[in-house]
Order: sequence, then C-alpha cells, then structure tokens
Amino acid sequence: MAKHVLKSWIKYQEDCDFSIHNLPYGVFSVNDGPKKIGVAIGDYVVDLFAVASKGLLTKSNIPKTIFKNSFLNPLMALGKGKNAELRQDITKLLSSRISKLRELPKALIPIENVEMHLPVKVTDYTDFYSSKEHATNVGKMFRDPKNALLPNWRHIPVGYHGRASSIIVSGTPIRRPKGQQIPANAKKPIYGPCKLLDFELETGFIIGRSTELGSSIKCNKAEDYIFGMVLLNDWSARDIQKWEYVPLGPFLGKNFASSISPWVVPLEALDPFRVAGPKQVPAVLPYLKSRGKKNFDINLEVAIKNKSAQETIVCQSNFKYMYWNMSQQLAHHTVNGCNVNVGDLYGSGTISGKSKRSYGSMLELSWKGTKPLKMIDGTTRKFIQDYDTVVMRGFAEKRGIRVGFGEVSGQILPALK
Ligand code: CA
Repeated sequence: MAKHVLKSWIKYQEDCDFSIHNLPYGVFSVNDGPKKIGVAIGDYVVDLFAVASKGLLTKSNIPKTIFKNSFLNPLMALGKGKNAELRQDITKLLSSRISKLRELPKALIPIENVEMHLPVKVTDYTDFYSSKEHATNVGKMFRDPKNALLPNWRHIPVGYHGRASSIIVSGTPIRRPKGQQIPANAKKPIYGPCKLLDFELETGFIIGRSTELGSSIKCNKAEDYIFGMVLLNDWSARDIQKWEYVPLGPFLGKNFASSISPWVVPLEALDPFRVAGPKQVPAVLPYLKSRGKKNFDINLEVAIKNKSAQETIVCQSNFKYMYWNMSQQLAHHTVNGCNVNVGDLYGSGTISGKSKRSYGSMLELSWKGTKPLKMIDGTTRKFIQDYDTVVMRGFAEKRGIRVGFGEVSGQILPALK
C-alpha cells in the first residue's frame, strides 16, 4: 500500500465509498431512538455522541450536546478550524492501533442498523445551470440549435431560487406531481398528473459559514464557506415546467421534491481529486476569476430500478465537466450583497458530459422522448414511470484513495387522486 494511503483498524473493501480518507457526516437514529450525528467508515457508523461522551475528542473538545442533534447545522457553524480538529480526532481514533475507540464497541454501529435522516436543516436552496453540455442540449431542443446558449450564459453562472421545504433525504418516496400542462397544438392548458417526470443528476454544496447582508464572498475565498457536498436529484416535471417557465423561470415543475444523499462529504476529503475546469471563453469578469484547481473529478452514475428492483444504468457522467465551479457560483450569488446562511444548499445544475451516455436527465437521454431508452427487463423509458426508483451514485478515486458519496435514491409513487 502506498505511503499516502491511511489505514484503519476497521476493515473495509478497497472499493468502499466510506474510507478513512472520507469521513462523511450524517444524522442517524437506531430503533426510533434520538437523532445523533455520526461518521461513516466501512460498514459502520461511528456514534459521535458516544465518542464525545467518553471524552475521546481530545483535540477539538467539542461538547457532546452538539452531536445529539437532528441536524448538522450547529456542528457546521463551529467553523472550519474546529471541524478540522474534529476530523483529526476522528482520523486518529480510526487509524491508531491503540485507539480508545476500540474499547467502546457500542459507538460502532453496523450501517444496516441505522436509519438515516435529512442531514441538514436546509435554510435556502438555490439551483444553478452550470453544465455547458446540458445548457447546450436544452437550447438545441427548445430554442435555436445554431445558438443553443443564450448570450448571458458564458458570462453568468445562471441560477434560480428553489424551495427548501421540499428537500428530502434519500429513500423518501415521491408522489407524482400534478399541475397545468399544455398539450401539443392546444390553446388552453389541462390539469392532471405530470406525464414527463424526470430526474436531474446534480451535486449540491452546503454552506458552513454565514455572511452579513450587504457583504460579498470573494471567488478565491469561497471554499472557506463550503462545508461539504452531497448528491442531489433535482426532480423535474418537464410538462409543467414548459408551460409555466416564461417569464420568471422554474416554479412548480421543480419545487415538489429534491432528494439529497444522507452523508455530507467534507470538502477537505475531496482535496486529492481537484482538477482544472474547462477553459472559459470569453474571459469572465474579474469578480468571477478563479485561481487554482476548483473542479473535482467525481464519477457519477444514474440507474433506474423497476418495481422488482431490476436495475439499468442509464447515465455515467463526471462533476469535472462543469463549466462554472462552486466558487464562481458562490461569488456570483453574493456579488449583489445577498447573504448566505449555515445550512444553505446550492445545486450544481444538471451535470451532462459530451457523450450521449453522459447526459444527466431523461430529457436529454431520450432527446425529448424521441429516443426511448431500453431497460434490462425489455421495457423502454422516455421519462420516469410510477414505481420506478431512480438511484444516483458518486465517487472519486485516485492512487488508492477512494472517497464516495454512497447514493441518493427515490421511488415515484402514483399521483394522489
Ligand atoms: Ca436543476
């Protein structure tokens, strides 16, 4: 094993998402007990309340009450410095041969025995539109194939304010939304269950440091405000969206549900996977200039599972394709003085790559429904059907180090009568 690869006394497979290099935070409970904060390692969850109660967090000294909590917000609000110390504490406890954690078996809970909850009290949700390939595909389908990108797109990380109340944790079923749609060539809309239900493959980042109204976050300081990342399925009702979006943008076609993965991967864990982003032409305005490697090489995939849990992988993409990085998104979001809060969630926008297999939505994969996708059970899909489960997974891997997100999944249930 190479020198830079840390080893834990907890055994796990090489392809395990939750290696000692990851240490993602989540909120769990066991047998309907209290909600607590834990860290995933291998097939276990480390109960940080139990660890803190025994006085094992010797460097960070974070009081145990922080870890008996329904959300990560108070922990994140302690700041990057305290959280770096906590990460050192946990790394030492899990890697040292003489770790006191070994004398506390109750603090290690098999991951299959825990229920995971929404990790963050989401204060605000903003969704961007930062994949050039995705924006180009949508522009080709709905506007002008020759001028697929609108004039502002290469100058602004385009986004909109979404809805925080309907952010849900992986595993929560979703009712097919109902709403207004305009049938082809019709003059008047109809009302009913959405027929063109879609997923959007995205990542999200979570704010760990608030700002004052009127202040702005500088692009090269933006990562100081980012606590960590999750996988995000930004469910979309294309027919509702198409009828409603002019002139103010997405509304009920988007706000019925957005699913996130339960484990928040600290930004520090993703450090080894930094890459340069695509060259931005024309040059961006000075407040959006970003220095260094601000994109991340994270493999992403989407699978559709039918009612009998037979799985078809429909998309394989990568977060590194994004044209606008998270720092630029945050700098742009606050350039006008808009404040951010601990617990804010920012969606990347659908992550599509160049190849047809890397498109991050059914809208693109089936090209507006004109090219149905074959499923493993012999059926086809243009969009998502009732009882389908959409599963998204993500991991980064380099030189023997693997940091994964686990998954975000959600099953579609029929619309309510
Ligand atoms: Ca989206």
